[in-house]
Amino acid sequence: MISTNTKALLERPISDFIISSEKVAHVQIGNSAEHALLVLTKTGYSSIPVLDVKYRLHGLLGMKMITESILGLERIEYDKLPSIKVDDVMDTDVVHLKNTDTFQRALDLVINHAFLCVVDEDGTFVGILTRRVILKQLKKYIYQVD
Ligand code: AMP
Repeated sequence: MISTNTKALLERPISDFIISSEKVAHVQIGNSAEHALLVLTKTGYSSIPVLDVKYRLHGLLGMKMITESILGLERIEYDKLPSIKVDDVMDTDVVHLKNTDTFQRALDLVINHAFLCVVDEDGTFVGILTRRVILKQLKKYIYQVD
């Protein structure tokens, strides 16, 4: 049986835990793979959102996708980087959250994703929710109820 406290946590809105869009590193549709590689390398993040000028979410881009796009038979073809667009290599099949979703839905999804993008009712990107933030909340909850 789920206790009242647990139920309260599971029903909390994720809006309390979002890292807001202005703090999230991203690339824009039309940017080159070279630019994206620079952003990924400088920030140290494994994957970042791809947005358009209106801040709508189009996909996710990770280092592996860029590396694979320049893998030749015998060498890595770095010279191709400026001509490849992020749109050509990003993953468009992105599981995301709505800002009205609950902690419970986020908890289910972070099992398979290190972070999730969050969009509002218009599909505008509002930020991300990371596995780290969810785990911190769970830890806080566990120590509090013990
Ligand atoms: P963390 O929980 O900080 O280890 O982040 C896990 C993953 O979430 C990172 O590897 C990134 O892919 C993404 N991430 C976390 N914070 C940011 C941020 N400020 N900007 C872009 N991506 C982020």
